[in-house]
Amino acid sequence: MKIEGTIAAVRAQVKAWKKEGLSVGFVPTMGYLHEGHASLIKAARANNDRVAVSIFVNPMQFGPTEDLASYPRDLEKDAALCESLGVDLIFHPEPEEMYHEGFSSFVDMSVLTEELCGLSRPVHFRGVCTVVSKLFNIVQPDRAYFGQKDAQQLAIIKHMVDDLNMDIEIIGCPIIREEDGLAKSSRNTYLSAEERQVALILSRSIRLGQELCQQGETSAEVIVEKMKEFIGTEPMARIDYVKAVDGLTMQQIKEVKKPMLVAIAVYIGTTRLIDNFIWD
Ligand code: AMP
Repeated sequence: MKIEGTIAAVRAQVKAWKKEGLSVGFVPTMGYLHEGHASLIKAARANNDRVAVSIFVNPMQFGPTEDLASYPRDLEKDAALCESLGVDLIFHPEPEEMYHEGFSSFVDMSVLTEELCGLSRPVHFRGVCTVVSKLFNIVQPDRAYFGQKDAQQLAIIKHMVDDLNMDIEIIGCPIIREEDGLAKSSRNTYLSAEERQVALILSRSIRLGQELCQQGETSAEVIVEKMKEFIGTEPMARIDYVKAVDGLTMQQIKEVKKPMLVAIAVYIGTTRLIDNFIWD
């Protein structure tokens, strides 16, 4: 396994693979890898001749008051995990390598970015679309793997690839959870022992929403209200949003439809966590 920090080195490696007719699977990450990331890497490993993983905490997708500086990093541990999963190449650039002086081109998207995380994190998806476009141009993968954990991001990337005619297959992978239900996240490391317990309110409210759907509830508004009420019983949890949206357009809906995305963002102390389910 190679670890490269420059765009030129990655391009040279990928070019050599392509010359041999090998397919390339790509998993973009911000590092501090856990089993959620590992599931994407395994899916990439199973369906491609070569697997590339990027580890880059992208400054452009963080707002000025967000956790860019404190975001957890551990390249050595990440590299060991990647090696054990059969990754061929890690791309780990410095911010200066990705954003040279005078950088001034951006990939932006309307409609899909207006709801959910786009509302509370106004610069986030412009940063995501820009960095993912750049990474796609650098790695030129045949397939790229994204988690359903970031459901809005997955929908946006699929839409972007379609809009901009990028010749890359986007593959969504299911949410990987801890045994007690908490969705795995690099940010879980911010939680104190007490907050870690409180954080279960997210996955439990997701389960409540799923049960209501299974019981035949037809009002998306009722589902959202009941989930909000449930989260409200936990004094240490502060709701950013609980919303039901059209699974394709990400626009808010009143009645249950398929596919429907029910997504939540909740602060536990100062840590903002997200979770969701799709009703399809
Ligand atoms: P991140 O490093 O948080 O930017 O995530 C990199 C990729 O891993 C994204 O496509 C995420 O959706 C995915 N991912 C993160 N956590 C999970 C999880 N618990 N289950 C599945 N995929 C995940």
